Amino acid sequence: MSINALLDEFKVKAATPKQQLAEYKAQGKKVIGVLPYYAPEELVYAAGMVPMGIWGSNTKTISRAKEYCATFYCTIAQLALEMLLDGTMDGLDGIITPTICDTLRPMSQNYRVAMGDKMKVIFLAHPQNRFEDFGLQFCVDQYNHVKADLEEVAGRKITDEDIKGAIAVYNESRALRREFVKLASDHCDVVTPTKRSAVLKAFFFMEKPAYIEKLKELNAELAKLPVCDWEGTKVVTSGIICDNPKLLEIFEENKIAIAADDVAHETRSFRTDVPTDEADPIMALAKQFANMDYDVLLYDPKSSENRRGEFVANLVKESGAQGLVLFMQQFCDPEEMEYPYLKKALNDAGVPHIKLGIDQQMRDFGQASTAIQAFADVLEMQK
Ligand code: SF4
Repeated sequence: MSINALLDEFKVKAATPKQQLAEYKAQGKKVIGVLPYYAPEELVYAAGMVPMGIWGSNTKTISRAKEYCATFYCTIAQLALEMLLDGTMDGLDGIITPTICDTLRPMSQNYRVAMGDKMKVIFLAHPQNRFEDFGLQFCVDQYNHVKADLEEVAGRKITDEDIKGAIAVYNESRALRREFVKLASDHCDVVTPTKRSAVLKAFFFMEKPAYIEKLKELNAELAKLPVCDWEGTKVVTSGIICDNPKLLEIFEENKIAIAADDVAHETRSFRTDVPTDEADPIMALAKQFANMDYDVLLYDPKSSENRRGEFVANLVKESGAQGLVLFMQQFCDPEEMEYPYLKKALNDAGVPHIKLGIDQQMRDFGQASTAIQAFADVLEMQK
């Protein structure tokens, strides 16, 4: 298959979660919705069910969810509920609701109340102190609760061998996505920001073996091309999610490519593999959570050293980008509170950046377009 045909296929998959859910159900499969962040999806796969990511929507409007949510909740959390209420995700057999931020904690209860008996709502609390033995044990206990709930939905036991098999599949998908991100930068004339986003987004909806097969094919085809002689500029993107095609098209219009990302929905979600030298696979999953680093949403006992800010500034330099674009989700406390530290690290390192305020109900891109256009001129001077 040609590169363009493969990219088109990912684009269709990224845009059609509802249809894919219907297909899985028609095939007699059970499907579990997985909300952000860091749910051990491997357990869903290990149970023989299909995990589907739920990260809100760029096309829906908050309506029914208003009944359950304070207006200052981010649109990702509200639109995830909207999709559960308006029938978009009808057919799910359950959802996993992690509770890593101050919005998701109360939202987990809103999802539970709103769904009633319609589906199994599986609560997941990650430990704040994830490194010490007690933190790891807490995480193992939580994951065992999730496992028990998934077994109830699946109607079968999940064995250690099932989980080890799932870990191998997920680690492979992570390695392939890391490889893809590098190839996308080398071939940014072919893998434009909208196409890059679609490939990474499709992961959340497709069955993982099918996704792995397609991405292997795409990576192999991309690797055959000579590295492109890019005449435009490159940035690193940062934030929770930046999958809005209309916003990403503005980058393309201004010849800005994406060299790498520090985005929760993208690289942050596949940066860290699950260790394979652990006898207990649930402990291996807990250790993966402990090993995650440089993440706005995770506790860093050394945060006063601004390690994360420096990490992101280095990412810009190492990836060959000229600057950074921060997509700041409205009402996202963790990202907003961390911004002054990121800004300081970028300024100290001489990395230009812009902060674009966004949310998933954004329909007017005029202001963003002007800001990106002006930033493109600044980046040109950095080349
Ligand atoms: S966007 Fe921010 S506030 Fe909303 S769910 Fe994610 S981390 Fe929480």
